[in-house]
Amino acid sequence: MRLIFLVSLLLGTSTLLSAQGRDLPPKLIVQITVDQLRADLLLRYSTGFTEGGFQRLMTKGTWFRNAEHRHANTETVVGHTTLSTGADPAVHGLIGNNYLDTQLPSSDVKTTDSDTQGIVLDVSDALHFATQDSSAPLLYPDGSLSAPESGRSPRDLLVTTIGDEIRLSRGAKAKIFGVSMKDRAAIGATGHAGTAYWYNTEKSTFLSSTFYVDEYPQWHQNWTDRQLPESYAGSGWELLYDIANYVFAAFDDQPWEKDYPGWGITFPEHLYPDPSDGFYQAFLETSPAADELTLSFAKALIAGEQLGTDEVTDYLAVSLNSVDYVGHTFGPSSLEAEDTLKRLDAQLAAFFDHLDQGIGLENTLVVLSADHGATEVPDYMNARLRTNLDLFDYDQVEQAPAIQAFKAKHGINDPISSYTSPWIYLDHDLLRFTRADAAEAEALIIATLRGLPGLAWVFERDHIAQGSLPDTHIGRAVTANFMPSRSGDLYPILSPGWFMKDPDPLAGASQHGSPYAYDRHVPIFFMGPGIAAQVVHRKVQTVDVAPTIAGYAGTRLPSGTTGRMLPEILDH
Ligand SMILES: [Zn+2]
Repeated sequence: MRLIFLVSLLLGTSTLLSAQGRDLPPKLIVQITVDQLRADLLLRYSTGFTEGGFQRLMTKGTWFRNAEHRHANTETVVGHTTLSTGADPAVHGLIGNNYLDTQLPSSDVKTTDSDTQGIVLDVSDALHFATQDSSAPLLYPDGSLSAPESGRSPRDLLVTTIGDEIRLSRGAKAKIFGVSMKDRAAIGATGHAGTAYWYNTEKSTFLSSTFYVDEYPQWHQNWTDRQLPESYAGSGWELLYDIANYVFAAFDDQPWEKDYPGWGITFPEHLYPDPSDGFYQAFLETSPAADELTLSFAKALIAGEQLGTDEVTDYLAVSLNSVDYVGHTFGPSSLEAEDTLKRLDAQLAAFFDHLDQGIGLENTLVVLSADHGATEVPDYMNARLRTNLDLFDYDQVEQAPAIQAFKAKHGINDPISSYTSPWIYLDHDLLRFTRADAAEAEALIIATLRGLPGLAWVFERDHIAQGSLPDTHIGRAVTANFMPSRSGDLYPILSPGWFMKDPDPLAGASQHGSPYAYDRHVPIFFMGPGIAAQVVHRKVQTVDVAPTIAGYAGTRLPSGTTGRMLPEILDH
């Protein structure tokens, strides 16, 4: 009885709070995250967008043009989770796509290649994937379970998300969902409540893990049965509009684009092969198909779960990844990337129309931002600005004479356990075992790094932990990304425009992950009932998004939030 009283008291309080802010809370909150959508790209292509897609957000919503991530490691899971929690990675815990975790059970310290994104060199067996959890295997459509190492959950996520808070505030009637091609994006955006779905290339459908589901609903089976991913076979990725409408019309064939066998680097070469082709799923990702699949699944989910059909606010996170996959392969400034964004624009227009016809946009809060921006391909910059940008070859550290001498002196294979972007982890067990001096090893590595072209800074763990980094943009960004049990010993930061060379020949042409403007500057849009059509140039941060949604919906702040509620959204 007492529990029931407490619950009704809580529910009553939250209704009262939201009633003060506006007439009615929205029936549905859709939080869209476009993977790798650097803020300037929307302005570069704005005349080429449809009225109902990005233009709708630009002209009917509040558009924060000067928004940034304030953490240093601008990677997918970090950005998605910061947007859903309002917390810095130092607090939310998902400090990178991969890291070593000293507090992990030994069953969870290995990951598979296909799951990693970001550069992982010199892999130690202690590597851990941010959303990996062997106790939560994937649930396959036939009811069987995946191998433990494919298991995924938000176990490493240490705080609540906005989805979690809506559930806590409104009870089980509040439906919480998330969908993405990428597990780390879906889980980081959704959190603990509800269900996160992500794409599984083996089963050609969106799946979840036993953390979230015991069985799949009928609508899920129906979507899988449509075999949409296979339907691309034999067709080609063509330009959406006449080529004369493209900024990069004359630059389709650029030497740095990654030429995957069978996919090509120019239109109309991009042809989807037979689904039995080993690259089939990779080509679905490296094209607008990934966004089409995600939005198709999102629409099926909205209908199947009847989102937005009652007075209790529901929440759906949608993470769209084609722009990122295509940007990595061809560069963010390529004809392929331009068409991908224009196709996403058309897809979003259709998605917003779909929401309007069903739930009604007057009942829906739409929030859109990006998990990070994008670094240009160094040779693209060199060709245009006569710079001398290059890739940083980490192998040079391993091969440096001073490091080789240290190894020989102590009879050890390697004092470095792993370079897992952005951290260098020393092998402390080995150093202790051989009585080698960790401080000496660290000093040698720092001196080596500093002697190499393209290195800007290297920050030491102890200095970060003590809060003694310089009080600069970059110093603060590194500190915001530091977590003692998951961070490494040294944080090297390359010069602007540089990124780490990946030894994998199939690795992309471009990257992200730096603390520089091109990776941190992202758009933020809010569109919905009571929100003004306006452009805001005041500097805001991505940690402000979740508390603003909380303020709008009248829920508690997510537990790690340090961002601020944006008055442009809430004050009127
Ligand atoms: Zn990426």
